[in-house]
Amino acid sequence: MRNVYADNNATTRVAPEVVEEMLPYFSELYGNPSSMHYFGGQVEKKLIEAREKVASLLNCDPSEIIFTSCGTESDSTAIQGTVESYPYKKHIITTRVEHPAVLNLCRHLSKNGYKLTELAVDKKGCLDLSELENAIVDNTAIVSIMCANNETGVIFPIEEIGEIVKSKGAVFHCDAVQATGKIPLDMSKCAIDLLSLSGHKLHAPKGIGALYIRKGAKLTPFIIGGHQERGRRAGTENVPYIIGLGKASELAMKHIEDGNTRIKALRDRLEKELLRKCTNTRTNGDTEHRLPNTTNISFEFVEGEAILLMLSQKGIAASSGSACTSGSLEPSHVLRAMGIPFTFVHGSLRLSLSRYNNEEDIDYIIEHLPPIIERLREISPFGKD
Ligand code: PLP
Repeated sequence: MRNVYADNNATTRVAPEVVEEMLPYFSELYGNPSSMHYFGGQVEKKLIEAREKVASLLNCDPSEIIFTSCGTESDSTAIQGTVESYPYKKHIITTRVEHPAVLNLCRHLSKNGYKLTELAVDKKGCLDLSELENAIVDNTAIVSIMCANNETGVIFPIEEIGEIVKSKGAVFHCDAVQATGKIPLDMSKCAIDLLSLSGHKLHAPKGIGALYIRKGAKLTPFIIGGHQERGRRAGTENVPYIIGLGKASELAMKHIEDGNTRIKALRDRLEKELLRKCTNTRTNGDTEHRLPNTTNISFEFVEGEAILLMLSQKGIAASSGSACTSGSLEPSHVLRAMGIPFTFVHGSLRLSLSRYNNEEDIDYIIEHLPPIIERLREISPFGKD
């Protein structure tokens, strides 16, 4: 049986080149980068290089990058650090379709003295920018809006959003965990103050992330202690993982073109064939402004979890809009915010590709998924006329 991994928005395979680059820093090169002796010096040199590589991916200055433990920590640092820096501002803006790393934190803050505005999206998952403009007031500390949605792949117009937020004098944080490495991001062209990314979404290991902090942005450290990361994130650096993220960033730059041509073509063929072969099926989200690797498809009258289990038996790994992303049986908050009908929300499936997928993988999914849908509809009480 073939194994097809099509769940790359959940996590990615660590690239072999990344593993190779990291390995010496688990064994012979174990110095602490803060140490004055040559053991530390060798390692510090490599950390500088890694920071430069991450900065290149975002076209920013290396001094604007701090390393964190994951995307969630980057999001928390950005949002908590900003509200703490502007204690007199008590309003936060985000969207209804953010990842829980942002949404649950903002909702937590709303129970602790902050007013929260959650911007709505339309049926394609897009924002109304005039609603954003009207929502920002003098009291707004931070606007936290993602770059690309993890479930649908829908990309928000972050350059326009940045202009609006800047003109109103608030701080703009962008969760670019899903976008980094998949689409070009250029901090010189975008009025973003803070941007989160996560290693395991771009072929680095789990447990490493980074936060871009624009020069001059006011940000109270989230983890307070030693002088590491210029006092902006204390704790001895996770050296091998930082080096891994540096290598993964370098590779991402090299492969970004492939992602937007070959992988996009694979995704488009997969989507087209599934829509052609299965009735009562729809794609969720704006298909024009979308990550090149992601498709979110709903099959009416079937349960997403049942599709996942049957796909898994065929060696295909994908994700649904409910249990697997949230750990509960709650249907996806993203699809619900888009007003997708109930019968479609429950049958939603996310397929997300990477540079390790090929034409044979797509053929294999196209061969096995439609019969699974047919079989599930036969046994579904909703599927019978
Ligand atoms: N933000 C988005 C959009 C994500 O998709 C994820 C993870 O799926 C996160 C934040 C959290 O990142 P991490 O798993 O590195 O904490």
